[in-house]
Amino acid sequence: MRDSTNEVLRNIATQGPLSRAQLARDLGLSGPTLTQATKYLLDRGLITELEQSPSTGGRPATLLGLVANAGQLLGIKLAEDHVVGVCVNLHSEILWKFEEPFKSRGEAAVKELTNLLRKQVKRVKGQLLGIGIGVPGVVSPLDSSTADSLMLGWTNLDVGKKLSQELNTPVLLENDVNTLSITESLYGHGRDVSNFITITLGRGIGMGLVINGELYSGSYGAGEFGHVQAVSPGALCECGKMGCLETLASSPAIHASAVTAGYIRPNTSISKLLELARSDKKIAHALFKKPAEALGIALGNVINVFGPELIFISGEGVGAWDLWEPHFQKSLKASVVSTMNKFEIEVDPWDDAKWALGATAIVLQASLSRNSNINSQSVEVKNRLRIASASGFSA
Ligand SMILES: [Zn+2]
Repeated sequence: MRDSTNEVLRNIATQGPLSRAQLARDLGLSGPTLTQATKYLLDRGLITELEQSPSTGGRPATLLGLVANAGQLLGIKLAEDHVVGVCVNLHSEILWKFEEPFKSRGEAAVKELTNLLRKQVKRVKGQLLGIGIGVPGVVSPLDSSTADSLMLGWTNLDVGKKLSQELNTPVLLENDVNTLSITESLYGHGRDVSNFITITLGRGIGMGLVINGELYSGSYGAGEFGHVQAVSPGALCECGKMGCLETLASSPAIHASAVTAGYIRPNTSISKLLELARSDKKIAHALFKKPAEALGIALGNVINVFGPELIFISGEGVGAWDLWEPHFQKSLKASVVSTMNKFEIEVDPWDDAKWALGATAIVLQASLSRNSNINSQSVEVKNRLRIASASGFSA
């Protein structure tokens, strides 16, 4: 497949449906090159001609869109005790959702995950392009297969390769906050901006960075926002350092400070704790002021460095955003330099399926990536897309 063909497919998938004129303009392609590329994709059943675009006085143009059923993708988000997943078509329409209990710790974890996924793979009708997995931890950008996760109890676990062999399907892993960022960049307000940051609050504190429209993965991972220094020396963090942001502002840290202060018992649930904080301003102040201020300062520092247009705040912790917000806004404002104060903040309701949707997008992106040989799994996804198109599925 020529590069221009892949570029056309990528643009239609991420921004489509598009007219030929728009594609030629966006990609700087000549008429004959574009015709050749679109003919290749049309002949293979990957794209189709759609309805005419609304007439603006000129000649109406035919729009080109992806053929929804040319392939399907599975995406999951892993947590310590459960898995949430979706199956989507190439239009990223969710065909079904699933949620299963899962024990991430111990020898049997990979086997359990294999069995759980095998059930879903069997449900797929047509060509499965691959499985994307969002992991709460660091995933090697070199192979998209090896993961380290304090939360899951995984150390350098080559889980992608094992699953791929067992299921005979390409499996690509990505940090879960990055999968959420991908969802925002493809389907949310992140579509309209080049530079944005996603932060997630909850059991851990994560960050996804989209710079110039591309997810930033660093050379060995990135976005370890929960482990920026917030207090010195501070309490010992799970990561082995002292005084990380998570030691103050993660849900377990806030819960622990409420226990220490005698507001609740160790076995009181987070939702009961929030009820109590909402009913007593003093308690709310005592529990949320410090964490919210630390979060505002830490985020302000990142904003000063990267200059994003948009900040998404998500994760299960946003259920308590009303308790964070007043202190957070004040400290954020104080820590951002005035010339950088041009960003907007969007607080997103917690939705596990959104993270899983982003995990499907990493597989779709692998098939559309400019970089055709990122790793063996991406190459296999690309091959499958071509096989799918050749096998004659239609919309
Ligand atoms: Zn830490």
